[in-house]
Amino acid sequence: MKAVLYRDIQVVKMSDIKRPIITNNEALIKVEYAGICGTDLHIFDGLHPRAKAPLVMGHEISGIIEEMNTERKDIKIGDRVAINPLISCGYCLPCREGNPHLCPNLKLVGIDQNGGFEEYVKIKDDKLYKIPNSLPLDLAALIEPVAVAVHAVRKSKLLIGDKVVVIGGGPIGQLVALICRINGASSILLSEIKLERFNFAKKMELITASSKEETIKKNMEMTKGEGADIVYEAVGIQETYNYITELVKIGGKIITIGAANKPIALDMWKVYFGELTLIGVHVYTPKDIEIGIELLNNYPKIFRPFISKIIGLKDLQSELTGLIDGTSKAMKVLVEL
Ligand SMILES: [Zn+2]
Ligand SMILES: [Zn+2]
Repeated sequence: MKAVLYRDIQVVKMSDIKRPIITNNEALIKVEYAGICGTDLHIFDGLHPRAKAPLVMGHEISGIIEEMNTERKDIKIGDRVAINPLISCGYCLPCREGNPHLCPNLKLVGIDQNGGFEEYVKIKDDKLYKIPNSLPLDLAALIEPVAVAVHAVRKSKLLIGDKVVVIGGGPIGQLVALICRINGASSILLSEIKLERFNFAKKMELITASSKEETIKKNMEMTKGEGADIVYEAVGIQETYNYITELVKIGGKIITIGAANKPIALDMWKVYFGELTLIGVHVYTPKDIEIGIELLNNYPKIFRPFISKIIGLKDLQSELTGLIDGTSKAMKVLVEL
């Protein structure tokens, strides 16, 4: 079968490889769409510690069940499915406590096993989510970033009427903002420096700010100087944490979504004096996947604009290169198989 293999730093190659053979509790999925994620760019750039060439990347997958060896009665060959790409150990404390997404041994399809940039991918049967007939498979391939945003908004316990700020206009930040809208936030301010992402937020009719100063100023106007109920941080850098406590109200919440790769300083006086709540969020639970599928199915007009373009497997090398060097400015690129 056809697959694109990550071979070396910034090198992927179209290859002919053996179709995976499934055993107990596994399914073979005919991949229809696979999204390109920041994680794939990280691997492509040779920066991911666990990813070892040769590897088929891609963990944002939708497809059709081709073969199956399962005791599940609710799915069958030919079903259209979205995939939960997280692989947890099942026996550690978080796994036993019902938080498999926090497993310290967490593994991912497309890093620790071959992923979706191939014709057929092998997936554990409990990671398959049958999707409604009304949900197109290209939209279904957005399930993974949508589930991340669903998880963040659910963890924040957003209430109807809350005023929120989202810092960072990448796919996750934009999705968080739109899911806050669906869930009744009364005002949403999205802060983003990069022009194309700023423009995307404008197109989605979000209120936008393009600098720290503008974010603080607009937030003060929108909240009558009292600060936002919830600030979602979807960047993960010191610069945003330097002013995040100026955006949130006394008694408000800061939700950390952006993955910081080193310790970050925060004005803990403000956290202490204002009883701020700091909530970390990481990936998603199986329930978030289910909710994400419902949202994609029920609000297709909100999510469709996220698909910037659809490419073929043969275009993956040039697209990955373009996304790394900035010549491709997509929100989300899907590979169609
Ligand atoms: Zn992803
Ligand atoms: Zn575990």
